[in-house]
Amino acid sequence: MGSFWNLFVPDMYASAIEHVDLDRLERSGVEALLLDLDNTLIPWGSDRMAASMSRWLEGARGRFRIGMVSNALPDRVERWSRELEIPAISRAAKPRRGGYRELLGDMGIAPGRAAVIGDQLVTDVVGGNRMGMTTVLVVPLSKREFIGTRMVRFVERFILAFLVRKGLTRRLDGCGGEDDE
Ligand SMILES: [Mg+2]
Repeated sequence: MGSFWNLFVPDMYASAIEHVDLDRLERSGVEALLLDLDNTLIPWGSDRMAASMSRWLEGARGRFRIGMVSNALPDRVERWSRELEIPAISRAAKPRRGGYRELLGDMGIAPGRAAVIGDQLVTDVVGGNRMGMTTVLVVPLSKREFIGTRMVRFVERFILAFLVRKGLTRRLDGCGGEDDE
């Protein structure tokens, strides 16, 4: 398995953020969660957060430092940053590393102590892996999304099927990688 494909392999894969194994992250030394916004915390195009998501966030906040890194425009990102009281980077151009670097720098957290949680392989997982962070892929909250994202999904489904076939990403709510215990 070449290192190129490893960029696409999430450390964990969950059906929703509420099902992410936070105990496991904590045990592995993760201190901060860098969350994606659209289709991870909030359905794309929506401006409401589900009650179950608010509860999850409150629980996670008690255990981890929380930040948000989004490719969305500042208006939307800043609104949620204020409302949820979490530091955020907008227009991050993930999978580029600049946004993650900036936020981790502000938070004073080393990449090896942070986990990314997001719904997209080519932005969240690739970006997080490039940074050397733990990466968690979640199933998108909504099938609705930006037209550009829908095209990328086609490629993502192909890659994900390939990774599952190779045994690198085994199952939902499970962990990827052959070195999994
Ligand atoms: Mg997203």
